[in-house]
Amino acid sequence: MEKLMNMNVNSKSMVSANEAKVEKEMNIDNVISMYKNGEWIISANDARLDIYNPWNKEKLATLIEPTFTEMKQLIKNSVETFHTNKLSLNERSEILAMTATLLKERRKEIAVIIVEDCGKTIKDAEAEVNRAIDTFQSSSEEVKRMYGYTESLMPSAGSDSSLGITIREPVGVVCAITPFNFPLNLAAHKIAPALAAGNTVIFKPSEQTTRTGELLVNLLAEAGLPKGFLNMVVGTGKNVGDILLEDERINFYSFTGSAKVGLHIKNKSGFRRVALELGSNAPNVVHFDADIKLAAETLVKAAFACAGQVCISAQRIYVHSDIAQTFIESFVALTKKLQVGDPQLPTTDVGPLINRSQAERMEEWVKEAVSDGAEIIYGGKRTGSLYDPTILINADSLSKVMCEEIFGPIVNIQVYNDLNQLIEMVNNSKYGLQAGVFTSNIHTAISLAKRFKVGGVNINNASISRADSMPYGGIKQSGIGKEGPRFAMEEMTELKVITLNTKGI
Ligand code: NAD
Repeated sequence: MEKLMNMNVNSKSMVSANEAKVEKEMNIDNVISMYKNGEWIISANDARLDIYNPWNKEKLATLIEPTFTEMKQLIKNSVETFHTNKLSLNERSEILAMTATLLKERRKEIAVIIVEDCGKTIKDAEAEVNRAIDTFQSSSEEVKRMYGYTESLMPSAGSDSSLGITIREPVGVVCAITPFNFPLNLAAHKIAPALAAGNTVIFKPSEQTTRTGELLVNLLAEAGLPKGFLNMVVGTGKNVGDILLEDERINFYSFTGSAKVGLHIKNKSGFRRVALELGSNAPNVVHFDADIKLAAETLVKAAFACAGQVCISAQRIYVHSDIAQTFIESFVALTKKLQVGDPQLPTTDVGPLINRSQAERMEEWVKEAVSDGAEIIYGGKRTGSLYDPTILINADSLSKVMCEEIFGPIVNIQVYNDLNQLIEMVNNSKYGLQAGVFTSNIHTAISLAKRFKVGGVNINNASISRADSMPYGGIKQSGIGKEGPRFAMEEMTELKVITLNTKGI
């Protein structure tokens, strides 16, 4: 930890150019503004935003958002770096592999910073670091697999002896905007493939988890990434977001966050390309022939990991009527064993929500569900920003806990009798990210997987499981485009066609 913190403070050099000013003493408070062309710079802006640990409310950092002019200079640097400085495939691959190695070496210390930033438990934070290692490793390998293809063209293409070739070219400057809930791995899912594909990156982490963003930038620099390839700005979406979105020099927006902000980004980006990874109210099915023990154990974790603040948390569980009672008893018994509280303790399973107002929203939504006929069979209590794991049955399909994204530790259990009824209930959602199906019948599994309107289906596993190297992304209001290093690299490159008239050759 000490090593990482020192690295952050020491690497913050101040520039005297134009608006930026020298304020060395401020680093005691861990002031963060921007990283441009290989240097941490503190903005000349007066407005400050203090960031606090969601659990113990200790101050973590002070953010000073770059001014409009500083933002423009930073974007210019990313554009110029893209045009003047190229990394070979080997260099890109080695830098990404070295970042994976550094993450591995400092796994424990990095997990502690994630816990402090977003309040997830140390168990969940360590799992996130492990996933980020895989994401960097996989991106390092994919650098060398950016294939095109060749084809002999039909005479209608102009010649009966023409050859078609496709190549992939980087889009240019990629802007990576990330949420608070997976501050390391979701940043990795944007930055690593963007660099692998030969782009430069402007990174805007969630304001709440800026320190984790700072840490990742420092690790990449330590791994050998030259200056200008990765720049970072801090701040709220409202202030710095629109400056990023309105600048036509940025070619691609890779965003993970809420559907509301995703739509805003899509509306602002015009003809420029976007990849949007948004929210959901993920459905999970436990059929009568399922392994009930496996389903209950897996779904309890899927409902309450990261205090339910996961886009693919199990929010709706549909259980066949034949096994409903057994499943529910088992699910409740396992939920009762969860330890709720201090996220830094290795024994804690469920930590706080990101802030108190989110925990208060849980109370309101449960209250509304109950007034619409739902029954709380476990939980339903708030203490500050902690909300107990909560199980509801019989919620109305129109209540918020069913049709909106809860993003908290509340799960709905619903009973079904036949598969057509089930499919209708599952697909009755504006979202479509991932689903889980528990059944011992492969035909049922594949049939449901094909009929669910979602981006991915996990069989005998919960919706929450994401294979980091596979294509990942939703349909409907859950998003546009796919992540997973190889697929993000496809999104972040232009496919160019070259034809060659070989007549006479
Ligand atoms: P959010 O949408 O509030 O913020 C996400 C990011 O967008 C932050 O960096 C924020 O500062 C920025 N932002 C906000 N307004 C902006 C604007 N006008 N212009 C540009 N940037 C702006 O989301 P959050 O609360 O940080 O995260 C929770 C949401 O993220 C949930 O809806 C969750 O489902 C979603 N999420 C989706 C996935 C996925 O892979 N599909 C993964 C994790 C989280």
